[in-house]
Amino acid sequence: MSRSRTEILVVGAGPAGLIAAREASKRRVDVLVLEEHREIGLPCHCAGLLSLNGLRRLGITLDGCFVQNMVRGAIFHSPSGLSFRVEREEPVACVVDRVLLDRFLAHQALESGAEIRLGCKARDVDFRGDVVKVGSGEHTFEAEILIDAEGSSSRIVRAAGLEPLGADGLLSGLQLELAGVDVDQDYVEVHLGRSVAPGFFAWVIPLGDGEARVGLGCSGADPRRLIERFLKKRFGGCGYKMLEARSGRIIVSGPIKRTYSHRLLVVGDAAGHVKPTTGGGVILGGICAAIAGKVASEAVKQGDLGRKNLSSYERIWRRELGREFRYMLWARRIINSLPDRAIDKLFELLIKENIPALASEEGDMDFQSSVITGLIRRWSVVKLINSFLKTLRP
Ligand SMILES: Cc1cc2nc3c(=O)[nH]c(=O)nc-3n(C[C@H](O)[C@H](O)[C@H](O)COP(=O)(O)OP(=O)(O)OC[C@H]3O[C@@H](n4cnc5c(N)ncnc54)[C@H](O)[C@@H]3O)c2cc1C
Repeated sequence: MSRSRTEILVVGAGPAGLIAAREASKRRVDVLVLEEHREIGLPCHCAGLLSLNGLRRLGITLDGCFVQNMVRGAIFHSPSGLSFRVEREEPVACVVDRVLLDRFLAHQALESGAEIRLGCKARDVDFRGDVVKVGSGEHTFEAEILIDAEGSSSRIVRAAGLEPLGADGLLSGLQLELAGVDVDQDYVEVHLGRSVAPGFFAWVIPLGDGEARVGLGCSGADPRRLIERFLKKRFGGCGYKMLEARSGRIIVSGPIKRTYSHRLLVVGDAAGHVKPTTGGGVILGGICAAIAGKVASEAVKQGDLGRKNLSSYERIWRRELGREFRYMLWARRIINSLPDRAIDKLFELLIKENIPALASEEGDMDFQSSVITGLIRRWSVVKLINSFLKTLRP
């Protein structure tokens, strides 16, 4: 049995773990990242749609080879075929190759001084004693503090006695990469409705040159059956070539109750740092992971890895993003409660009230609370939603 020691141990080399590692190692502490797979970024389960503002905020430059396309807006479709656009003159988001983006982040973490061990799965974790012990096969890693970035299936959260993501907030996601499709390469498509994707939506994300990522998330249904139906509706069910299929879990529950404990910080999907409206977790998860990297490195320098000192992580991310998660969760619950005919009515009303123009002007892909409050202020929208909610009450 061999042993090694580090100051900060990060479990998981996805974007959250790598950003936490980058930020911590910039502050001159020893950081080791464990990744169970032999290659960074694989297997990939992501549509790769990221806001340009969010990427800038995370210190990710856009000259990387990971950028596949730029988009300047989204077209929203109702179940019966109504639609509206939310758009800007200039690109607001890019579509990335997540494998290459994760490798870019790994490079940034290495350049800052972190070490990454591939093919190394954290199996057992022990928080008793004056260091955290993590077993991986014949090897034990000891650390002052652990950053859990295992993703949605985190076992460390449970081992630490924290409440994990609830099963009802985890949706099945399925995504196909298609060639030979006729899509507008400047716009993402969002298709709403229980008949399309119960509990979520279907998306079409253009990659350029007639290629697109087409996917959906759903709860309580078979995503393969739904996507076949969607492909028929959207593309006539033929004339394209399927290049790749990926599945994964989409988180819509919002953050877990507590994201810190004695010698532990939880980041990314493991912490539920994902937008409940869209299932996007790279940007907001990355912002929280950067905070975790800073807090962990300061705690190591102070020699205080206790729960009270580490609670500053949760205080900071809640101050910055708590309102965003709350509003997005609220919006997700409302949309999920609406039957398809109500979504159609809502589309009519949004168009009449000129909401797409408001969203085009003021909307932000990651910070959605201002558009959501704009909607709440419109009485007609609230009245419509209320009247439908009343019909659902027993
Ligand atoms: C279908 C689909 C489409 C999506 N599209 C988007 C999108 O367009 N935009 C967006 O922002 N987000 C999107 N997301 C969400 C996004 O993929 C996640 O929020 C993001 O990957 C979370 O990053 P993470 O680092 O927390 O976790 P992950 O990316 O899951 O990384 C966790 C890493 O930890 C490793 N690991 C796990 N357990 C261990 C262990 N015990 N020991 C060692 N290593 C371990 C895993 O191998 C993995 O590499 C999508 C998700 C799905 C399912």
